[in-house]
Amino acid sequence: MAIDKRYFEIAQKRLSNRRTANKHTEDVRRMEIHQKIPKYSELECRLADTMTKIVASIAAKAPDSKEQIKAAVNSNMEIQREMAELLEQNGFPKDYLSPVYTCQKCKDTGAHDGEWCECFNKVLNNVAAEELNSRSPLQLCSFDSFRLDLYPTTADPVVKVSQRKAMEQNLADCRKFADSFNGRGYGLFMMGNTGLGKTHLSLAVANDLIQKGWCVIYGSVPELLRRLDREQFKNADGDTMALVTDCDLLILDDLGAENSTDRYTALLYEMINARQSRSLPMIINTNLNMDQIKQRYLDRLWSRLFSMNVLIFCGEDNRLKLSN
Ligand SMILES: [Zn+2]
Repeated sequence: MAIDKRYFEIAQKRLSNRRTANKHTEDVRRMEIHQKIPKYSELECRLADTMTKIVASIAAKAPDSKEQIKAAVNSNMEIQREMAELLEQNGFPKDYLSPVYTCQKCKDTGAHDGEWCECFNKVLNNVAAEELNSRSPLQLCSFDSFRLDLYPTTADPVVKVSQRKAMEQNLADCRKFADSFNGRGYGLFMMGNTGLGKTHLSLAVANDLIQKGWCVIYGSVPELLRRLDREQFKNADGDTMALVTDCDLLILDDLGAENSTDRYTALLYEMINARQSRSLPMIINTNLNMDQIKQRYLDRLWSRLFSMNVLIFCGEDNRLKLSN
């Protein structure tokens, strides 16, 4: 994957911050133990003494140095055992003062077995996702800021259910999706007129999952397709396709607002198919109705859309009420 050099530098900086934070945790813990368990400090001094004795015996090469070294090593192990016990007796884990690592595999170096560690690739993907998400109003939308009171309680004559009731269900479905998210499955397909809260709820899911550490990419379909098109057919830098097909959750906003061209449809299919074939979830929003979707997209594409969990948003545009 061709990665922007800037992303690389930011990711390395984050790893460095991680090491500094972990070192700080170690220092704080050490101070805490010295304060709470004075005997621990004594044992540390004795441990340092036995180390000095071992080094001196090795350097002296005296006839009885072997016995001396053996005795010092035994005493060293005994002190370490006592230290661990002392920690446990005082309610701390045995390894409380061991080095702290976020990633045990690479010990926060970012590399393992001559390759970049998974943790580093994850940070790198997050940096790239943040850049892609930077133009969306992510921070503005949460589940708590979703206004159910804007939806009327009168029953819709066709579906016999009030718009508020239907929206309560959509909100509950989105919360459930976020709460039970495990990075697998097909995801949600939201259909309905513009201004009914599809984007708000998608962004609320995105926010919730980003805070839990998942890599989420949110993009409007026209913008994302222009970008993919530039990279795939006009040699622009970047590998957005790898990013959107690999991230934990991909949110495609406003399907149907893109220009209807064969190239765009092919890119759209490639993206959706790549994710569904690996059971990687998406949230897709559209203002198109069922007939328009079937008319506009090939069978193989719309059948994929309707294999997702479909949420229907019915009623009038709520943004009008918000602006009044
Ligand atoms: Zn790692």
